[in-house]
Amino acid sequence: MARTYLIAGNWKMHTTPAEARTLAAAIAEKHSSLKPPSSVQTLICPPYLSIYAALEAVKGSGVHIGAQDCHFETKGAFTGEIAPNMVKASGCSHVILGHSERRQYFGETNALLNKKVRAALSEGLIPIYCVGETLAERQEERTLAVVRTQLVDGLKDISLQSASQLVIAYEPVWAIGTGLAATAEQAQEVHAAIRGFLTEILGAVGAEMLILYGGSLKPDNADEILSKPDVNGGLIGGAALQADSFAAIIAAACKLAAS
Ligand code: PEP
Repeated sequence: MARTYLIAGNWKMHTTPAEARTLAAAIAEKHSSLKPPSSVQTLICPPYLSIYAALEAVKGSGVHIGAQDCHFETKGAFTGEIAPNMVKASGCSHVILGHSERRQYFGETNALLNKKVRAALSEGLIPIYCVGETLAERQEERTLAVVRTQLVDGLKDISLQSASQLVIAYEPVWAIGTGLAATAEQAQEVHAAIRGFLTEILGAVGAEMLILYGGSLKPDNADEILSKPDVNGGLIGGAALQADSFAAIIAAACKLAAS
């Protein structure tokens, strides 16, 4: 059976609308020339203000657009926030929630993220819920305990009809933006454990969910990491800001999906 991959780019706070249009168009062109099978999906997550420009640029290419965060309420006096229904109505299919930068710099907790995940699901958005340990937690051998708590608390009271409604990203914090990727073995070990935790929390559907690896995923290490059985794609920061490197990662997934 063909393996399914989701290759997702997190552009973080990069790209004006004009820059997003150019980058998204270049990615769409490369994506189309790779002719990915339906089992390989490509997603880009620009800043909110560049979503519209990116959507226009990828029209008809099969590339999906997502947001990097959302609030848990549908409207109200929450200056500066964006509601999940707004994200959905803007044409996004996915929303990244709980990225370590949101946890670290904006104080987002598992309890808050649980509200966001539930709100996004109820709007028909696919949350990409991020989990991962810091360097200190890994050194103290607490990786699996930390990730389990993030999953148990962040996915509390959620029930899914289908595994495709939710995506998990395992992003070791020490590997994000540092050039220090987890080894393929380290990634596989945590992904396999996450699959077990998801089954425990969500039932049979949990075993089928896509689990992405994030943390300095690049063309150089994509083949090896994406070939691991419990790795179903990547959440990519730096390498997603260049059409060539992002397309090389999509190409690696296409090759593995066909093998
Ligand atoms: C990320 O921010 O989700 C990420 C994985 O970044 P990078 O690929 O740059 O490490």
